[in-house]
Amino acid sequence: MQLPNYAYFEGQFVPYSEAKVGVMTHAFNYGTAAFGGIRGYWNNEHEQLYIFRPVDHFQRLLHSARMLCMEFDITAESLTQICLELVRMEGYRRDIYIRPIVYKADEIIGVKLHDLEDKLTMFSVPFDRYVANDTNAHVTFSSWRRVDDNMIPARGKISGAYVNSALIKTDAVRAGFDEALVLNQDGHLSEGSAMNVFMIRDGKLITPPTTDNILEGITRRSILELAKEELGLEIIERPIDRTEVFICEELFMTGTAAQVTAVTRVDFRAVGNGQMGQVTTKLRQLFNEVVRGNLPRYQHWNTAVYIQETISGV
Ligand code: PMP
Repeated sequence: MQLPNYAYFEGQFVPYSEAKVGVMTHAFNYGTAAFGGIRGYWNNEHEQLYIFRPVDHFQRLLHSARMLCMEFDITAESLTQICLELVRMEGYRRDIYIRPIVYKADEIIGVKLHDLEDKLTMFSVPFDRYVANDTNAHVTFSSWRRVDDNMIPARGKISGAYVNSALIKTDAVRAGFDEALVLNQDGHLSEGSAMNVFMIRDGKLITPPTTDNILEGITRRSILELAKEELGLEIIERPIDRTEVFICEELFMTGTAAQVTAVTRVDFRAVGNGQMGQVTTKLRQLFNEVVRGNLPRYQHWNTAVYIQETISGV
């Protein structure tokens, strides 16, 4: 992966090579950090890079920080400004991914969350597709269970919890699958390794509620709105049983990295007719138009990186 030129680190923009932490750093030892994952989409016609819903992403980051007893005197809007400045410094004219991290920075031994120094860093990298088979993914039910809210809150993007995601992803990929569906301890579907999950059943769009150990996905939220407003679909947030995915019409996963990934097979069983379904196809197209800044009524979700000079006068 291409390394960034710059990072935001300890309150300033520095060359990426200078953004370093010591091996004793608390977050490195104990996973006591939280992060974000934000995409930027290049629109060639507009000559513009659009960051998708940055304030929502930074708001979620600040919520994750609170779950880790971190106190930051900074707003999601100010974090967005730092993000824009960083991306401008890189001068990207392509799709990118932005990664802010809040972390326990002390170099000490001791498992706890309180009385530690909290720091913030941010970097960005060029980024394309995350799931190779995003129009016909084959997934399996993971033998791992999703972390529970009473263990490590899945609602937050807590670094330590991503060991759960990594176990899930590696075992699925090594077994020959593209991704995995993860169940809660009670056997209901939660999400994928790093993406939310939706099914179409009897023409309705159904997804697990935010109380079922899922990350409160920004893409999930956007897809729910697009499905309702643009496709007029009935939306239901309710627990999903394992066998429902074998009899649903369509299945797809959403995430900043995964975008809208169609799932066409689960454990060697075809989903619906085994092809990407109509609703998934439409939502993929809509989402792509929205994030690239081509649908004016959703342009409030996009923040333009480059300041465009308007030619005034005659
Ligand atoms: N669940 C998990 C565990 C994730 O890591 C992600 C990716 N951030 C998602 C769901 C999707 O969330 P979002 O749409 O906000 O990227």
